[in-house]
Amino acid sequence: MNQRLPVQGAHGDLLRLVATGKAESRAELSRLSGLAASSVSLRVEELIDAGLLAEEGSGTSRGGRRPRRLRLAPTAGVLAVADLGAHHARLGLVDLSGTPLVIEERPCDIADGPQATLDRVADAFDELLAEHVPRSVPLRGIGTGVPGPVDPATLRVVTPSRMPGWNGFPVADHLAARYDLPILVENDANLMAAGEARWWPDRQNLMVVKAGTGIGCGVIVNGRLHRGRGAAGDISHVRVSSDSSVICACGHPDCLEAYASGAALTAALAEAGIAVERPADIVGLVHDAVPEATSLVRNAGRRIGEVLTVLVNFFNPDVVAVGGSLSAAEPLITSIRAAVWERCLPLATRDLEIAPARAGRDAALLGAGSLLLEAALATP
Ligand SMILES: [Zn+2]
Repeated sequence: MNQRLPVQGAHGDLLRLVATGKAESRAELSRLSGLAASSVSLRVEELIDAGLLAEEGSGTSRGGRRPRRLRLAPTAGVLAVADLGAHHARLGLVDLSGTPLVIEERPCDIADGPQATLDRVADAFDELLAEHVPRSVPLRGIGTGVPGPVDPATLRVVTPSRMPGWNGFPVADHLAARYDLPILVENDANLMAAGEARWWPDRQNLMVVKAGTGIGCGVIVNGRLHRGRGAAGDISHVRVSSDSSVICACGHPDCLEAYASGAALTAALAEAGIAVERPADIVGLVHDAVPEATSLVRNAGRRIGEVLTVLVNFFNPDVVAVGGSLSAAEPLITSIRAAVWERCLPLATRDLEIAPARAGRDAALLGAGSLLLEAALATP
């Protein structure tokens, strides 16, 4: 069942163009790839024979002969993807174009450590495959998001704040011992950004903020995820100005995360005698117009906005998309907007859109599918 994609070079490029929805006919493939029509046709036939592409009925007619529409064959393969949170994992199977086949949320405590957590996720993958995918359809790759920094060179988790036992753990090697396939391990906010980018096809430069238990940000530059050396987009430990002083989990005083994360708001609410378990509970309190919660969320948005002000001036993105479980609290985005509009250069905000994320709760899984397809097609 485990097979690498037998496609590299031009074959892989053509398959990617169809999988990402950029091309659906031989003519479009020829135009976008720069290959001659005859070369495209030859390779398309080979991809059809290999069970990767299918060609059906008619595409969009442009007056004359109706072109046949190319799409991924249902037998082309599936990808198993997961997004690990503090207490839950969302996981599922997507096809090579990123369309979800099945997605579930399972309880999963990341504090149980990497081996137990990853084995539980892999068991879940195997269950879903047995239940939802015919044996003839190959698994093509495994991807997981983790709520901490990942070194892109080694695919190890590096000094995470809320993942006891994970520091330095070789996540990819552990999964590779079970699956001889391309393995993707990525910071959760980066995955969310990669998934969100697909919902803004005409925008090339995005910052995607994940406001949940922690605070993260993923950066899309020229349509592609920018990882830097692994820490790109990590806004959680930027120092904010404050009259008081709060020591962050990282040991430094006054990090953004210590004031504006779901974890920080949960602690502040507990001090006010209001018990909540997850960021979604805080959103519920805001919807119920509980003043303490609304005020805390508004302050969190202002602090996030102040940090973003520097970054928007510097990076000058087209879009700041705000997702994560806290983002459903409306005052959060309103306050982020207010801070950025007030302090940024007019040139930086002229065409800037600050909006709720569009990709929804499965953005990270869609991002994992999208990045894994790239990885699977690039692996010899
Ligand atoms: Zn910190």
